[in-house]
Amino acid sequence: MNQSTMNGNTAAAGNTIDSHTVLYGVIGDPIRHSRSPIMMNRAFRETGVNGVYAAYHITADKLGDFIAGVKAMGMRGVNVTIPHKLDIMKYLDEIDAGAAAIGAVNTIVNDNGRLTGYNTDGIGYVRSLKEEADPNIAGKRIVVIGAGGASRGIVYALTGENPASITIANRTEDRARELALAFADKAELRAVTFDGLQEACLEADIVINTTSVGMHPNTDASPVDASWLKPGAVASDLIYNPLKTKFLLEAEKSGCRSHGGLGMFIYQGAYAFEYWTGQAAPVAAMRETVLASLG
Ligand code: NAP
Repeated sequence: MNQSTMNGNTAAAGNTIDSHTVLYGVIGDPIRHSRSPIMMNRAFRETGVNGVYAAYHITADKLGDFIAGVKAMGMRGVNVTIPHKLDIMKYLDEIDAGAAAIGAVNTIVNDNGRLTGYNTDGIGYVRSLKEEADPNIAGKRIVVIGAGGASRGIVYALTGENPASITIANRTEDRARELALAFADKAELRAVTFDGLQEACLEADIVINTTSVGMHPNTDASPVDASWLKPGAVASDLIYNPLKTKFLLEAEKSGCRSHGGLGMFIYQGAYAFEYWTGQAAPVAAMRETVLASLG
């Protein structure tokens, strides 16, 4: 029996909101920019799940009250975004091993009042990378620029793919070293300074920008000189506004394959949908809706 049937929430087509409708949502501060509601409600419509997904502006002092509300109202699922991915963990009954290793939760599943936290950012990114750019990450030399929250999830997920090596470079060098050390038992990981980035890029099969450099409105910035990448390498950027950053446009000119951040956003949502409903996420429809909203 799939999850939606278990919850008694298989809906009539068209997502009529009725007395069986189950609540879902995303919390953050700020939150009004979020495209998760349009993406997830499209997924519910597409699959006939009788759910409704909204965005809630929750400030840090209201996290505990919000969790009490989740339990009281029987919300089935919650996505968590900035700045609550760490602080939410203390309110949960269980943390999935991956989320615990990453140290952040972006998805909560409510099983009859018992809340479990997951992190779908890293696995969402890797699923996107494999489906859209390179199905075989095993044996590849990977460079990751940036060592923030998103980078941590991605590096953790990449270690599960058996790459030849992962080299991390970050503006604040200590953070790169800490990240490389955190997962040193799982893969060949090393940290380099920005001075060592050119040499690392020259040898890399996949170069991933996890920094915010190049994001709207600063679209004329790039975290790395794309001419350092070898032709045929994959240039990947977590940013999806713009859909193609300066880094990706210049990498394409150097003969690289480019991979933008929209897929990561879609697949982190797809995993959340799958955890909540037990059904395969309608990924193409989700992507279509988000793309349309980005104009
Ligand atoms: P974060 O935790 O704040 O980390 C930011 C990272 O960017 C740090 O490594 C920081 O370096 C670096 N950075 C910021 N400004 C820089 C500059 N001017 N020069 C060099 N490095 C700079 O943020 P995050 O949550 O990891 O997010 C990072 C990016 O990923 C953002 O663009 C975000 O939109 C994107 N993202 C996309 C998705 C998706 O679904 N596609 C999901 C999550 C995040 P320091 O350590 O030196 O400060």
